[in-house]
Amino acid sequence: MNISEMFYSIQGEGILSGVPSVFIRTNYCNLRCVWCDTPYTSWQPEGREVSLDGICAFVEEHTRGHVVLTGGEPLIAPQAAELTRRLRDMGQHITVETAGTVLPEGLACDLMSISPKLANSTPHQREGGRWVAQHERLRLNIGVLKRLTTEFAYQLKFVVAEPEDLVEILGLASALRTPAHSVLLMPEGVTREELLARASWVSEVCKREGFRYCPRLHIELYGNRKGV
Ligand code: SF4
Repeated sequence: MNISEMFYSIQGEGILSGVPSVFIRTNYCNLRCVWCDTPYTSWQPEGREVSLDGICAFVEEHTRGHVVLTGGEPLIAPQAAELTRRLRDMGQHITVETAGTVLPEGLACDLMSISPKLANSTPHQREGGRWVAQHERLRLNIGVLKRLTTEFAYQLKFVVAEPEDLVEILGLASALRTPAHSVLLMPEGVTREELLARASWVSEVCKREGFRYCPRLHIELYGNRKGV
């Protein structure tokens, strides 16, 4: 598989926040979010081929039982499903972090962490807008989202930039029949200052709607850098 990075750290987002986990970050993404916090997997992909044996050996060496398959978009990787099955055979708890645009057959997953991309992600101002059409065409796939939310335990995690994003979030949560406690709102930002600037109004929205506020613990602990 083409891998961007593998590391052992603390899960920083979502209902397993704080759990020590091995992260397998695949290279490449089918989307181009304007605020992408892992541009080295999307806008400027960098990676190397690592065999499934090599990935499993890394997991075996570092794990305390939790593995996070992330990206980029891990579910476009040709061997994603096979890797998850091998991790399950190793007794790992598997979280898959995905934008929810594709679903390969035969995936093993204990927590599907789905982060559908809202209109705030569309890159109108980057690279002359050349990714806008593809991003808009692919960013929401209701059929795949419905399967992901019925076939797996899941959380629905939204990156929120503006109060206006709520209209789209409410529409998706309703279409997917997602209970409010499984909807997580995460302020957009890759620095403590940016997160703090949005924290108060995002938390108020959570209180009003019964959604879960989603901090980014790894930014607080380590800042925005690779390998953490
Ligand atoms: S889906 Fe994730 S990895 Fe892909 S461009 Fe958006 S933020 Fe970046």
